[in-house]
Amino acid sequence: MKTETFYTIEMPYCEQLEVRRTIFSGGNGPRVAVLSGTHGDELEGLYVCHRLAAWLEQLQRSNPQGLLGAVELYPALNTLGLDTLTRSLPVYETDLNRAFPGSPGGPLPKRLAAAIMAALEGADLVIDIHASNIYLREIPQVRINQEFESLLVPIAQNMNLDLIWLHSASTVLETTVAHSLNSCNIPCLVVEMGVGMRITPEYCDQLVTGLLNVWKDMEVLAADVAVPDITNRPYIADDSNVHYLNAKTSGMFIPNASHWTDLRQGELLGTIVSPFHGAVLSEVRSPVDGILFTLREYPLVYEGSLMARVMASRGKRS
Ligand SMILES: [Zn+2]
Repeated sequence: MKTETFYTIEMPYCEQLEVRRTIFSGGNGPRVAVLSGTHGDELEGLYVCHRLAAWLEQLQRSNPQGLLGAVELYPALNTLGLDTLTRSLPVYETDLNRAFPGSPGGPLPKRLAAAIMAALEGADLVIDIHASNIYLREIPQVRINQEFESLLVPIAQNMNLDLIWLHSASTVLETTVAHSLNSCNIPCLVVEMGVGMRITPEYCDQLVTGLLNVWKDMEVLAADVAVPDITNRPYIADDSNVHYLNAKTSGMFIPNASHWTDLRQGELLGTIVSPFHGAVLSEVRSPVDGILFTLREYPLVYEGSLMARVMASRGKRS
């Protein structure tokens, strides 16, 4: 195992900005990578990298032949954002995940994106972990552009997550790392889970189990390596069965339903209230029988704020 710097640039005042990765190398088998920290307010993926590193360190002690390929962990791509609790890339106020595929001679976000693309050249599978934002909590899910559906869905089905959400090609941004890698025939799956600025250990462990199983199937890990059992099979959602619930009034949201539950049509998900008086201003109710997979986390809401996403029950587990 080694941690190395794969991108360096001089800061205006003497320091250097360094972006690092940790590499676990075994034999000449497939090469896989895990990305996180593209958004400086998303921490779930950093903990996933820690858990994977701990597992791989233990494997190398107990079964040095168990790693047949290479695992690369990129826990903190937007180091400046993480250090300063900023979602975007500070100074440039640019979303790093809108700067791909980048260019080596452009401004910092483009240069960093190009360095990340170069570092991942030749990878056999990349997982890009996101953690929503501070406003919404997400169950562990994979989001896939339908353009790459046939390549990515079979992998996503074995990742031990709760949901695969297929997006139509027209709604997908082409300047993300995932789209740029998939366009170069490097499979990249986007995981969304948890909430910004927090760590949800049970979600992280759920994904770690999925990744270890996928890597074993790919023969990154040897057949005699024991990995935890898969416990979840994902539902499949798409633009036809996902319902968006928006706030009818501004105010404070008080949830009434727990996340990731079966809902009945009309069931109360929560109320929006005012700190100035006792009346309920409005209610959030499910429009369909379905599954609650996104729920408002940050209580203060404006009229029109996204409160929840519900997948209608006709979605099936794969
Ligand atoms: Zn993100």
